[in-house]
Amino acid sequence: MDYQWETVTKEYQDYLRDESRSVGHAEYISFPDSEEALVGIMKQSSEENLQVTVQGARTGISAGAVPQGGLILNLSRMNRVLGMEYDEKMEAYTLRVQPGVILSELREMLENKSFDSSGWAEYDQAVLKRFQEDGDWFFPPDPTEASASIGGMIACNASGARSFHFGPVREYVQGLRVVTAQGDMIALERDRERANDHAFALTSESGHLFQGALPEYPWPKVKNASGYYTAAGMDLLDLFIGSEGTLGVVAEACIRLIREPAAMWSMTAFFPDEESAVTYVEKMKKAQFPGAYTAALEYFNSRALDFLREQRKQPAFAAIPEMPPEFHTAIYTEIHGDDEDTVSEAMMAACEVLVEVGGDDEMTWIATNPREMEKLHFFRHATPEAVNLCIDERRKSLPALTKLGTDMAVPDASLIKVLEMYNRTLSDSGLEWVMFGHIGDNHIHVNILPNSLKEYEQGKKMYQEWAEAVIAMGGTVSAEHGIGKLKARMLRDMYGYDGMAMMAEVKKVFDPAGRLNPGSIFGV
Ligand SMILES: Cc1cc2nc3c(=O)[nH]c(=O)nc-3n(C[C@H](O)[C@H](O)[C@H](O)COP(=O)(O)OP(=O)(O)OC[C@H]3O[C@@H](n4cnc5c(N)ncnc54)[C@H](O)[C@@H]3O)c2cc1C
Repeated sequence: MDYQWETVTKEYQDYLRDESRSVGHAEYISFPDSEEALVGIMKQSSEENLQVTVQGARTGISAGAVPQGGLILNLSRMNRVLGMEYDEKMEAYTLRVQPGVILSELREMLENKSFDSSGWAEYDQAVLKRFQEDGDWFFPPDPTEASASIGGMIACNASGARSFHFGPVREYVQGLRVVTAQGDMIALERDRERANDHAFALTSESGHLFQGALPEYPWPKVKNASGYYTAAGMDLLDLFIGSEGTLGVVAEACIRLIREPAAMWSMTAFFPDEESAVTYVEKMKKAQFPGAYTAALEYFNSRALDFLREQRKQPAFAAIPEMPPEFHTAIYTEIHGDDEDTVSEAMMAACEVLVEVGGDDEMTWIATNPREMEKLHFFRHATPEAVNLCIDERRKSLPALTKLGTDMAVPDASLIKVLEMYNRTLSDSGLEWVMFGHIGDNHIHVNILPNSLKEYEQGKKMYQEWAEAVIAMGGTVSAEHGIGKLKARMLRDMYGYDGMAMMAEVKKVFDPAGRLNPGSIFGV
């Protein structure tokens, strides 16, 4: 059977871009709705030697899903949950999902314990029944943008606020079905296919052998989404997680759920200055609470708060509460635990820490139930969202502008140094900028909002200089968004030409013609 694609006409223009606001070009677009269709398209594109760019929900901000010619492979119609199992060893439920399942929809299904289970095997139906009577379970990865797809999250090894405690997506992927550029299907299960030191060999379902050597660059000891994951003897499943669709297309994933904590509270605390906020974070990172733990520590600098004060005037952000001028820097803290009392005690202890460092426990918003927590999450999401909308507005008169958003993480010992570097270089720059992000993981997003092409070039130069400094600190140029097409040069600075060559060798094994996600990771 021939699998057809359509020509990219005006109605498909949105598919030429992602949330980075970069715009690409493509001749064709396809929307497979089954694994069979996906494999067929990959085989046919191989025969026709077409370049293929994989798309999930296009919420990425590194232009990974922005096509550079050829065919767009959009997976939004492969959006079913295919089944559910119970893993006795892990004492956890797992879900088999297609890549186009949207995170917010998955959350809703889990919350309501309701899935479209038509077509599920009898065993899966029985597990679902057991699941429905077995308390609350959730999927911990939480990139701030809940409209991301599971396939895109796996491709980028996404993480979010709660990754401080739960880690990135990688830790919740138990299995993958990956289609290579030529249409071979490789099935992987955690703990089943391992590298022999740095040598790997995988056989596809049709018997094709893929073998080669894993890169040998040192993997930084920070939260990291830069380049191909590597470690001696590693689980080969992990090679595909975070490979940004350059090695294969995730056609199906088996993801692990965990039992939802009995109680969750959160607090956005406002500090009189940045120093006291950072000291609070450093103390909270080490703090131990009996029966409870800190799940997230998020940061908003004074400019981010000023930016949000301004955004409140717009209807989309009118729900942001008023912030008096003395609210200088904010830290969001989320605490989970065994019961409400335990979490309440841990939150009181967190308030003591904030008073100890010079904060005021009256300058806080505390959420003790999901509805209130949602408001604090809205506040957290509002910063990047408003920056993106602001860039959209500026692009109307300056189409060449894109957001300049950093995604770098450093080791614990360098957090103060890196903040000092951003503040020092930016405060004299004359640029408009905000800082926010996952401070618990020493992972700060600097967003520059250029007002002119001159400022855009100035911001790009600063970003490159910061990347070099972060690499020298032992950090990473991308901790969660991936390299995409925008950070290829920084990746080269991080792993060097030798590292890039080692990655290219791996890519050649799975995609000899270099047709899959051209430009991503290796540069346009
Ligand atoms: C406001 C905002 C906040 C954000 N905050 C965070 C955050 O806190 N943490 C975080 O990690 N990210 C964040 N992101 C970025 C983004 O949401 C994530 O990178 C997300 O994982 C991308 O998923 P997607 O489905 O939109 O993928 P896309 O943007 O469609 O694609 C991303 C990459 O994955 C590849 N890909 C997609 N699907 C597949 C597949 N099935 N197989 C192989 N490759 C595939 C694409 O080719 C591309 O390279 C944020 C984005 C926005 C707009």
